[in-house]
Amino acid sequence: MRIEEDIKLGFKDVLIRPKRSTLTSRSQVDLERKFVFKHSKQIWSGIPIIAANMDTIGTFSMVKSLSNFNILTAVHKYYSIVEWDNFINSVSKQMLKYVIVSTGISDVDFIKIKEIFSLSLDLQYICIDVANGYSEHFIYFLKKIRDFFPDKTICAGNVVTGEMVEELILSGADIVKVGIGPGSVCTTRLKTGIGYPQLSAIIECSDAAHGLGGRIISDGGCIFSGDIAKAFGGGADFVMLGGMLAGHMECEGKIIKENEKKIMLFYGMSSSSAMNRYIGRVADYRSVEGKTVKILYRGSVSVSIRDILGGLRSSCTYVGAESLKELTKRTTFIRVSEQENHIFNN
Ligand code: 5GP
Repeated sequence: MRIEEDIKLGFKDVLIRPKRSTLTSRSQVDLERKFVFKHSKQIWSGIPIIAANMDTIGTFSMVKSLSNFNILTAVHKYYSIVEWDNFINSVSKQMLKYVIVSTGISDVDFIKIKEIFSLSLDLQYICIDVANGYSEHFIYFLKKIRDFFPDKTICAGNVVTGEMVEELILSGADIVKVGIGPGSVCTTRLKTGIGYPQLSAIIECSDAAHGLGGRIISDGGCIFSGDIAKAFGGGADFVMLGGMLAGHMECEGKIIKENEKKIMLFYGMSSSSAMNRYIGRVADYRSVEGKTVKILYRGSVSVSIRDILGGLRSSCTYVGAESLKELTKRTTFIRVSEQENHIFNN
C-alpha cells in the first residue's frame, strides 16, 4: 500500500485569477479551435465542446441543434443501422463533421461500427468508450480499430493518469477521454472507491498527451460554465457534457408531468434504468454505478448553449484571452475554500 501525499484538485477547489486585459467586449473572443490530429492527420475546427455519448444526450436531434454552433455530438451506440442510414440520408455532409460515432469493445460492436462507416465516407470520428480504460482488451480493440480505420480520428477512454494516456496515444488514439467518477449521474466513486479529482486529471493527462502530439477530452463533472472554463484553463482540448445538456427537447426522452411541472428522466449509462432498457436486466455479476434523476424540462438546447458560450467568452475576457486557445496560457488557478455566496440557496 502507498499513499500519494500531493493534493489533487477538483473544479470546486479553485478559481481562475483575473488578469489585465485589452479586450473591450466579450464579442471579440473567438471560441473556435483548429486541430490537426496525430494519427488521422485530419483537420477539425469548431467549438471544442462535445455532447456526451449517453442515450439521452448523444442523440441525432442533438447533432442537428449543436452542429449549428459548430459543436460536436458523440452519438450513443444504441441506434440501429437503419436509424443511422435514415439520419445520414436526411442531413448535410457538413453536419456529419460534428458527429462522433460511439462504440463498445465487443465483436458485435466491431461489426456494427464497420457497417455504420460503410454508410458514408463523410463520417470521420470514432469514440471507443468503456468505463474502465485500463483493460488490456480495450487496448487490443483500439489497435484493431486503428488498423481498420487508418485515416479516421479515434478518441478512446476513459482514463485519468498520464501513463495510460501515453499508452492509448501510442496504440492509435488521436484523442484520449479523461474522467473516472466525476459525472453528474455517476456513482462509481461511491461503489468502488476508485476515481481522480477531475481538474488534476486534466492537468496531468493533458501534459502527457500534448507531449506526444495527442489531445484530451475532459469528460464529466462540469456543473456550470465556469467549470468548463476551468477545464480548458487546465489544459483540456475538448470538454464533454452530459448533465448540463440534459432535460432538453433534443434529448429524445419522454416528458412526464408531475405537480403541473414538465419533467424528464436523466440517467447514467451504468444505472439500472439504462441496463434494464438495453440489456433487459442488471446482470448478476454487475453493480449499478449510475443513478436516475428527474429534471425540469428546459426546452431547446440552443438557449442553454448560448448561456454556456456567453460564460466562456466572459471567462476569456477576465484573463485577457482573445481566443479559447489562449485561455490555458493565461490561466493561473488559485486554491480556494469558498466559491459562490449561498445566502439565497435553499
Ligand atoms: P456529466 O457531464 O453529466 O457530469 O458527466 C457525463 C459523463 O458521465 C459521461 O460522458 C460519462 O463518461 C459519465 N457517465 C455517464 N453515465 C455514467 C454511469 O452510469 N456511471 C458512471 N460511472 N459514469 C457515467
